[in-house]
Amino acid sequence: MFDKIKFYKHYDMQKQLTLTILTPYLAPDRPLLKDIFPFEHNGRNWHVASNPHSIIMIAQYAENRLPPPDHAFPNLLAIIPAFNCQLQIRIEDLNETYFSIPLVNQEVTYECETCNGDGTFTHDGFDYDCKTCNETGKIKTGRLEKAKDPAKDILINGIPIDSKHVYMMLNVIKQAGVSSVTLRHSSENKPLLFELDDTIMILIAQKHYNDENPRKETVAVKIHGIN
Ligand SMILES: [Zn+2]
Repeated sequence: MFDKIKFYKHYDMQKQLTLTILTPYLAPDRPLLKDIFPFEHNGRNWHVASNPHSIIMIAQYAENRLPPPDHAFPNLLAIIPAFNCQLQIRIEDLNETYFSIPLVNQEVTYECETCNGDGTFTHDGFDYDCKTCNETGKIKTGRLEKAKDPAKDILINGIPIDSKHVYMMLNVIKQAGVSSVTLRHSSENKPLLFELDDTIMILIAQKHYNDENPRKETVAVKIHGIN
């Protein structure tokens, strides 16, 4: 028997909380990833939300059961790695690392509608560079907002990830009342898999630095050892 999400006993609230936690991970512009879908893994049923950079799975039980989508959804069997480690990550260390990244002014942009953010589009079988966004996929607004310094990534067990993934995970921890975070899979070139209590799993793509994505400064999350 495994833990349920802690906060709510009432059925509708369990469903609502499951939706609240999963929805930020959906990719509304991807037909296969725009809805929560079911997945069977390690002998349990899970609710899954996924986007091209991360996946979240919440254990399914009577109180939070959601209907499957009425369209095709991906099979994650080849994507979810088997556990290969058991490192406890302290929530306060995750928090401290995230908040140590300074805020900087950043211009607010939105995705180019002409090319759907790709910078290029296909018309009558030909590929074109998008002039609307100057091939960047983004439209600048001239407005500034405070955001975490995009020049800094977070290092977990030696592997760099985008700080926004840590922010999203901290939100899940808060919403679900999670008390423990365990790093369950960690190896070069593969996504990191975190287990939150016994109820939630989060898979985060690692950053790959190359000519287009130059190496960034990183701040490392303290890791206190194996238990
Ligand atoms: Zn464009």
